[in-house]
Amino acid sequence: MAQLGKTAPAAERDVSARKSRRSIGPVMASAFKAVLREGRGIGGNRQNPSMRETDVDSNSSSADYFDEINRSREDRRNLFTQGKNDQADDWMKAAEEGTILQVRAPAINFYVLRDGDELYLIDAGFIGGLRLMKRALARHGWNRLPIRGILVTHGHLDHILNVQLVARRYGAWIAAPRLDAEQYAGRSNYPGRARVAQWLETFGRPILGFRSFTPDRLLDDGDVLDVWQGLRAVHLPGHTEGHMGYYSPDRQLLFSGDLFVSYRGAAKLPPDIFNSRPEQIPASVEAALAYDLEGVLPNHCDSSPPAEHLQRFLRLGAKLADRRAGD
Ligand SMILES: [Zn+2]
Repeated sequence: MAQLGKTAPAAERDVSARKSRRSIGPVMASAFKAVLREGRGIGGNRQNPSMRETDVDSNSSSADYFDEINRSREDRRNLFTQGKNDQADDWMKAAEEGTILQVRAPAINFYVLRDGDELYLIDAGFIGGLRLMKRALARHGWNRLPIRGILVTHGHLDHILNVQLVARRYGAWIAAPRLDAEQYAGRSNYPGRARVAQWLETFGRPILGFRSFTPDRLLDDGDVLDVWQGLRAVHLPGHTEGHMGYYSPDRQLLFSGDLFVSYRGAAKLPPDIFNSRPEQIPASVEAALAYDLEGVLPNHCDSSPPAEHLQRFLRLGAKLADRRAGD
């Protein structure tokens, strides 16, 4: 795995695409937000419990999800200002210890893993993600280290928007779940209420300048990548068909993608309109919790440390197990 893509040429920067992404970004963000508020009526909902496929009390609403944009901005300010936020300080410490960096961006975060003098990404962020990543890398003195690979958790646009750009610019390989291959090619076909997500992606791809890509490696459950002494791909379907986490046995740490979101002291399932196979999620939660874990890192989360997200996830898992037992 380590040799994948190491010889790929670095691409020239595409300035025009970056410019259009930057100027259109805020417009898209508010369009998404407006549609998602509508989506709450289609997807969620407390007013119409008969429409539920997954437990609404355990799901975050679309509006909550996007209300986090402003919180994330605040978090980010804190994260980059030492001494103003204890949790952010934990992250600063972890980053300075030289292994992991959380790139915080509006609505979605992603991760940079350091292995020796090489970097690997877990997903590649959404609008503005690249700029924030560069700033974070520079801040930690990692900006001269090569980005060797990108590990994709699933095919949603907010996780893969920048994948091709990063891969070409840095000569990084791409490893991604096999079952979400359609999305990498720029197509989505989600059933049920997730058709709202499909519509958002269909609308968003051209406006945001999404570039399709072909992964260098398509991953199946149990595949091991040569990162951090063996990072294991764990198939956790439900959010999308191919959705995967990445587990480090060495650190007992799971990068959990969008298996759950974690804000304001609680873990919840993603909003219904983003879950293609909601009926598969409880089993995936159970499967994730069967691993030896000291911490979990979702992509949509506040700046709490991994151990805190794990505590929240354990409470969510217990709640779902109770509900299943009661069925
Ligand atoms: Zn997602």
